Amino acid sequence: MAAATNPGRSKLFRLTTIATSGLGSFVLAIWGVRLNLGNQVAGMPIEVIGAIIAALCALAASLAAMAFFAGIDESADYVFNETHFDKLTGLFARTAMVGKIAEAASATARSGKPVFLIDIDIDRFKQINDAIGYCNGDALIRAFTERLRTALPDDVVLGRLGAGEFAILCPDRQVDGSLEAMIDRVVAELMQPYQLPSHLQSVSVSVGVVAMPKDGYDPVMLLRRSNLALQNARASGIGNWAVFDPDMGRVADHRRWVESELHVAFERGDFDLHYQPQLDLQSGRTVGYEALIRWQHPERGMIGPSEFISVAEETGMIGPIGEWVLRKACLDARLLPEDCFVAVNISPVQFMTRDFVGNVARIVAETGIAPKRLELEVTESAMMQDRERAAEILRQLTGMGISVAVDDFGTGYSNLAYLIDFDFHKLKIDRAFVSRMETDTSSGAVVSTIVGLSRALGVRTIAEGVETENQATLLRAAGCQVVQGFLFGRPAPLAIDEMPTARVASLH
Ligand code: C2E
Ligand code: CA
Ligand code: CA
Repeated sequence: MAAATNPGRSKLFRLTTIATSGLGSFVLAIWGVRLNLGNQVAGMPIEVIGAIIAALCALAASLAAMAFFAGIDESADYVFNETHFDKLTGLFARTAMVGKIAEAASATARSGKPVFLIDIDIDRFKQINDAIGYCNGDALIRAFTERLRTALPDDVVLGRLGAGEFAILCPDRQVDGSLEAMIDRVVAELMQPYQLPSHLQSVSVSVGVVAMPKDGYDPVMLLRRSNLALQNARASGIGNWAVFDPDMGRVADHRRWVESELHVAFERGDFDLHYQPQLDLQSGRTVGYEALIRWQHPERGMIGPSEFISVAEETGMIGPIGEWVLRKACLDARLLPEDCFVAVNISPVQFMTRDFVGNVARIVAETGIAPKRLELEVTESAMMQDRERAAEILRQLTGMGISVAVDDFGTGYSNLAYLIDFDFHKLKIDRAFVSRMETDTSSGAVVSTIVGLSRALGVRTIAEGVETENQATLLRAAGCQVVQGFLFGRPAPLAIDEMPTARVASLH
């Protein structure tokens, strides 16, 4: 990998300075000795004494000049290293990387040969770092860098742009096979779990790509564009990558607007919960309701959770929002039939916060909900971040009598071994499999396998996104017990008038 060099002063300049300092002092000393002393000191002729003093002066002056240069070198090296290299990884730091991009841009302008700028970011690194502590966080970054180095061709330029963000400059000729295949390979490698001093840590990454000269020459703009592509990739799921497209600017503007508005919206009380029924497939009875957050903006109307949950996760707003959702759902449970539970989505960021279990316990106590009427929907990716801690959290929740469903099951990880260590009560088959069941036999096979797995583990299965009678029939045949989807009921606000009057009256 390319290295930067420190431009210093020329050798000739240094030699001349040292020699003239020495010579100057020599002449001055001779002149001083002649002026101040007679022709003889302690029996030695004045020329000998003069020569000794002058030589000592010359030596001292030369040494002083050398020391001066050494000092300059040291501070120049210090400043250079501080600004050019990232201390933790030894990779180029952001400013140096901007210089490298500028060099690559002018090279590609001359030769016309494309160079790719690839921006890789560890999803939610800040939250991971807070949760696992800075020592583990540093170890994770070092191991991540090592994987990047080994997974990439030797001649690429590698930099660290931010806490969990890295950039790669890769000339087209360095790409082994297709760019797609190379990035897929690197992403798969980077998403393998990391053995840290205290535990096994999984991460997901998002990747954005720009090509020079197609997407421009200005390094700052190129970095902004690769980051735009990265944000776009992140919004579309785990481990995704995207190539820059000019339309992405609009998406980014919208995200920025969401970010600036979330706090105000929360304070103003724009949020509400809608509920979607979950039914027992055999009896057709409603057994629970999933709480789904809705943002009713006074000017822009309804904004879906997929547009703002990820922004809330990045900005930390998911903390207060998630707590509000949990509290409101627990309170709303009083308006639901007594034999129904309420299911609440828990963001991976919430799940990994230090006192997650304590917060849940407090809200359960304050709202008075019977713990068996509360179900938490936690995604596989949340559990995989730190398996040991996740297993402990799940044990504590189960100990409190709260049930847990593994949400979006089947989309994240192929390694099912972890399931054995986890206390949970339901696997929720992702909508992607249900929607393809009718046309794609392998999706049907996945559903049957998940049902079989649930049986073996002694947990129940729920399928989400059921839209047609045919899907319901196939799910029943596969042995799935609970279903949820537009076929049975869309998410809707709590309709108080549909609840038994006595129960509503007793709340006031
Ligand atoms: P999810 O947990 O997978 O929720 C199910 C999503 O599928 C909901 O979208 C729901 O409206 C939609 N859906 C339900 N039945 C059908 C169907 O038959 N067909 C189709 N096409 N879609 C169906 P929604 O409400 O837009 O929520 C999207 C995602 O946002 C949720 O996915 C969940 O991950 C997240 N989310 C929603 N509310 C919350 C919340 O309170 N907290 C957190 N952390 N995340 C939430
Ligand atoms: Ca869910
Ligand atoms: Ca889902």
